[in-house]
Amino acid sequence: MAETHRTKMLILGSGPAGLSAAIYGARAGLEPIVVQGLQPGGQLTITTDVENYPGFRDVIQGPWLMEEMQAQAEKVGTRTMFDTIVDVDFSRRPFRMTGDGGDIYEGDTLVIATGAQAKWLGLPGEEELSGKGVSACATCDGFFYRGKKVAVIGGGNTAVEEALYMTNHSDDVTLIHRRDSLRAEKILQDRLFANPKISVLWNKNVERFVGGGEPVGLVGLDLVDTETGDKSHLSVDGAFVAIGHAPATEIFKDHLELIDGGYIKVEPGTPKTKIPGLYACGDVMDHVYRQAVTAAGTGCMAALDAERFLAEQEFELMAAE
Ligand code: FAD
Ligand code: NAP
Repeated sequence: MAETHRTKMLILGSGPAGLSAAIYGARAGLEPIVVQGLQPGGQLTITTDVENYPGFRDVIQGPWLMEEMQAQAEKVGTRTMFDTIVDVDFSRRPFRMTGDGGDIYEGDTLVIATGAQAKWLGLPGEEELSGKGVSACATCDGFFYRGKKVAVIGGGNTAVEEALYMTNHSDDVTLIHRRDSLRAEKILQDRLFANPKISVLWNKNVERFVGGGEPVGLVGLDLVDTETGDKSHLSVDGAFVAIGHAPATEIFKDHLELIDGGYIKVEPGTPKTKIPGLYACGDVMDHVYRQAVTAAGTGCMAALDAERFLAEQEFELMAAE
């Protein structure tokens, strides 16, 4: 039978943003509930080595880090629920959400931390070679391609930034774009064209990610020219797919203001949305940084803001009595 769960702080998402909000919320006595969604632990559970999360001198594993974060959140008083939110009502408080089995979740405050997913090309070899030469995050994985030959696929700001970033590690970076002009901002294009370590392949689509070697890893890309149909092959050790990200905001689109690309709009420098008591943190509101540590940081900010909001509400109630 469907149940109703009520809390002072409801958190949607169990990635670094949601669990960091939970740790702070629980320690403030808000008895948070975290609804975990379809990917408990979030994006870091689908990677292996994490080398840039502060506090660990040796390489740690993404799934392990997320297990530890969840254990820490639960130890200080968080309740985690296996459910996915399918419907929301932000028109009054408590905010009311419906899980896919019919359970109702009510929160005096709400922290949305539903993250974003990199878009993939869906081509042969891509999934099999993911983590073995194919990646969607140069900041995360670029370090593993020091001195190697790499390609970045896409023509927007992300692709250009990833290509520029990769020149910190590689002297041979190829940007592959399906058209003859970039979508990226001019200033980024200027930097790209001025960089001698980067060459651009125009009017090319990737047809296949090619694996080889022992252990199996990416060895190259089969390409096709979008104008002439000519086929070619580019040998590379790493390929970064940078064709955009999709924030998980489908269920909020009629209820919250979204910016270009579907990210939740927040007051600059804060996790506050226009609705008092409702916060967004992590990749779902951040199209620029998209890192575990920034997600955790904004999760902390959301919890602190929620705590202050509830304290103010209580003070106003007392003053009115
Ligand atoms: P996410 O981690 O995306 O978590 C979103 C959560 O929301 C999930 O638990 C999901 O189940 C839940 N959810 C979604 N929809 C719903 C719903 N309707 N109801 C309830 N819950 C919902 N960053 C680094 O700093 N270092 C790295 O080395 C690194 N490596 C990476 C490797 C890979 C392969 C990928 C994909 C990303 C990597 N990142 C790395 C980026 C990092 O994982 C993200 O920036 C970070 O996970 C964002 O955290 P988040 O909490 O905002 O969202
Ligand atoms: P984007 O602007 O949507 O660009 C995606 C790129 O990938 C486009 O060039 C597109 O080609 C290409 N692409 C899409 N699907 C493809 C496919 N199937 N095969 C081959 N190529 C494909 O995405 P983004 O670069 O991630 O940027 C998203 C948003 O975040 C934008 O608003 C951007 O301005 C913002 N952003 C800002 C910054 C910054 O301010 N520093 C940094 C990163 C991102 P076409 O051009 O042919 O469509």
